[in-house]
Amino acid sequence: MKILVVGGAGYIGSHMVNMLVKSGHDVIVLDNLSTGFRASVKSGRLVVGDLADIHLLENLFQQESFDGVMHFAANSLVGESMTNPSKYYRNNMGNTLNLLDVMVRHDVNHFIFSSTAATFGEPEYSPIDENHPQAPINPYGTSKLMVERVLQDYASAYGLNSVCLRYFNACGADPEGELGECHDPETHLIPLILQAASGRRAFITVFGRDYDTDDGTCIRDYIHINDLCAAHALALELIISGRKRGALAYNLGNGLGFSVQQVIDVVQKVVLEDDCSLLVEDGEPRVGDPAILVADATQAKQVLNWQPEYVDLETIIRHAWAWEKKISL
Ligand code: UDP
Repeated sequence: MKILVVGGAGYIGSHMVNMLVKSGHDVIVLDNLSTGFRASVKSGRLVVGDLADIHLLENLFQQESFDGVMHFAANSLVGESMTNPSKYYRNNMGNTLNLLDVMVRHDVNHFIFSSTAATFGEPEYSPIDENHPQAPINPYGTSKLMVERVLQDYASAYGLNSVCLRYFNACGADPEGELGECHDPETHLIPLILQAASGRRAFITVFGRDYDTDDGTCIRDYIHINDLCAAHALALELIISGRKRGALAYNLGNGLGFSVQQVIDVVQKVVLEDDCSLLVEDGEPRVGDPAILVADATQAKQVLNWQPEYVDLETIIRHAWAWEKKISL
């Protein structure tokens, strides 16, 4: 199949491209390289361009006949979305409409969308299933939810089949060590701790120790990047095969919660094997951080026939540490 991966130079997109190419698909990457890296596109053909460029999209869809589109290109910094909502609505929402409209014009009817647990907002219960109310508390989450709603209308009006995958905490790295996580600025817990261990950072700050959890630190659902990508491949297969139609949405997590302290403990154990250690400091809680965010991914498992492979936190951290060592030590 010929698949367009938008945002294929980013962390999740680049792992997805590798997986698709290894499965024998013909992949074209569209990325503006604003946060992604040319070097992360290991296979497939890279078209450098922006979703705001309607002419570029039109030309691309005229030249290529895509069987499906996966969309990972978005701004994803929650804090920035609070101070600069325009950027988030324009890029995550407006530019996605450009992509959807060119798909409709060219009769490309299969779309996989990178959504987020941030569409749920403050959890009312845990683990969070697909029936949980969606009430985002920041423009990032709202911009993603708006696209989810658009997809429902595009399914009924234009017959566009889509699957929204709502990620919890994507993490880890390619088990073969070819790719890994590279954000600038980096805001995610696991890469930040590993950077503190490799010496790229002086210390890691724990954002709050007074939460209503066993050890007082926040609990999150860390899902390995390869498991996440495997779910995308299955989702595309589900709609392309015609087994399901319409606008679908599934939560993706491994269903296990780990606290910030547990993550630090496992990192300390793993990096000690390389004679590395890290300094931990306590800081204030981060605004808008719920105590516990864990996914109920039963639906994804049942409907997509998805089974996460790397659920063990130590394995996830070993893969991420191998990558951190490769780029820093
Ligand atoms: N966290 C932390 N220190 C950091 C970065 C994150 O204690 O330097 C905590 C954060 O409060 C949250 C968890 O680690 O409870 C995961 O945060 P991350 O930003 O990786 O993902 P999020 O859950 O916000 O999407």
